[in-house]
Amino acid sequence: MRRITGTHVYSYVKCRHLAALDLHLSRSERRAPTEWEEFAAKRGRDFEAVYVQRLPIAMPRYPERDFEAGAAATRELLRSGAEWIHQGVLAGDDRLGLPDLLRKLPGESSLGDHHYEVLDVKTSGKSRGDQILQVVFYTRLLAELQGRMPTHGALILKDGREERFLIADYLAAHDEVLAALRHLRSDLSASRPFLQSGCSGCYHDQRCLPALRQRSDLSLVHGMSHGARAILEQAGCRTVADLATFHPDGPRARGNLDATLLRRLRRGALAHLLGKPLVDERPRAERFENGAIVHLLTDAFADRVLAIGVLHPAREDGAFRCELPATAADEWDALKRLVASLPRGVPLLHFGETLPRWHEEHAFAREADPAIEARFVDLGKRLRAAAVYPRAVFGLADLVQTALGRDPLRAGHPGAAAMWLTGDDGAERLRAKLHADLQDLAALKAAILDAAPTVVDDGEAAAGEGAAANGERAGSAG
Ligand code: SF4
Repeated sequence: MRRITGTHVYSYVKCRHLAALDLHLSRSERRAPTEWEEFAAKRGRDFEAVYVQRLPIAMPRYPERDFEAGAAATRELLRSGAEWIHQGVLAGDDRLGLPDLLRKLPGESSLGDHHYEVLDVKTSGKSRGDQILQVVFYTRLLAELQGRMPTHGALILKDGREERFLIADYLAAHDEVLAALRHLRSDLSASRPFLQSGCSGCYHDQRCLPALRQRSDLSLVHGMSHGARAILEQAGCRTVADLATFHPDGPRARGNLDATLLRRLRRGALAHLLGKPLVDERPRAERFENGAIVHLLTDAFADRVLAIGVLHPAREDGAFRCELPATAADEWDALKRLVASLPRGVPLLHFGETLPRWHEEHAFAREADPAIEARFVDLGKRLRAAAVYPRAVFGLADLVQTALGRDPLRAGHPGAAAMWLTGDDGAERLRAKLHADLQDLAALKAAILDAAPTVVDDGEAAAGEGAAANGERAGSAG
């Protein structure tokens, strides 16, 4: 029986199926990490090493992967009253915990007149529920060992700040997750994949995505939720093809699913079968003929904007300009220069929250012109609302692949941007990636926002329905 670890708790919150696969498969059955994923993991390890350097830490010594010996060595350190224990091993019945840090506190426990609490070092800027539950998992194991539940747990965030929280606030949620993990460990079939934003960066993607396609799973449909999939399946609608022709009589037959939502999901199923986006009728078509597209490449770990580019006019053949700010202090002026190079007052089209969030964070400390913020237009929101796509779409890469049939990563993965800068051709790669992304955004604007609503003619509808009847796809994308 495989032991449940803190990593399983962390994975469960991201995706129930991820935790289930991790509990049943060996590491060798995962996709190998990419070069930039390894780079990011190493940065995390280096950050932890630098953080603990300043502490008077003790570490349990034990033969590699002999966790029984590790747990015994950790118990010794706990009893001896070491101030800080780094990478201790906490073992209990069917669980194993490897917390980053245990800190000694005054107050009686079965160890003596002291006890410990758990701290985990993270590279994120804000605490998240999955990280907190992982600390609570370790804390439960520690409490069993020292005969006392510590009041708090803590996360060390990337700016070195310690964020403390009350363990009691999260115990019930933790116990629920632990019970679910035990159930998944005894029965892998208790979970199934569901296409979601995390799939593209998940090491089980090569297992789940083909399985979803093979069973024509409803989660492939644009706009599908876990709840809607469960309701539709209960109503006998199990595949995308079923959904395309699902016309239930009345609310009961559709499991009381909202009629408007069902219509949209059915249109998503048709888009999947036809293999093309279906552009919706819009009440007031916004046109951004004169707009410029602005795009950033960032390094989230270092809170840096590595490259800013603009494309104007917002067409694939528009003029491309970019700046690569060398330091955080140069970022604001780089954006100002690029905006100043554009005709006055043109809308600034961007994708998602990155630009407005960065702008807001810096606006307080700078002489921000509120008129610039007022020109921001989120293309991401508009693209998602303007059409149903042949597949569920999350980030820019999904939209490019699904709506344009292009490889969104032909100039590299945006997550690799920080790694490129460690090589000689970093600046060149950043420029090439920015230009490719800007051209993709311009092509999406033309294909979706500037396009007339899609009219599905009788022939196409029949092709879609015919494909549905044969359980196939009529189109080629997605
Ligand atoms: S690929 Fe997606 S569904 Fe599968 S385990 Fe990973 S996140 Fe979950």
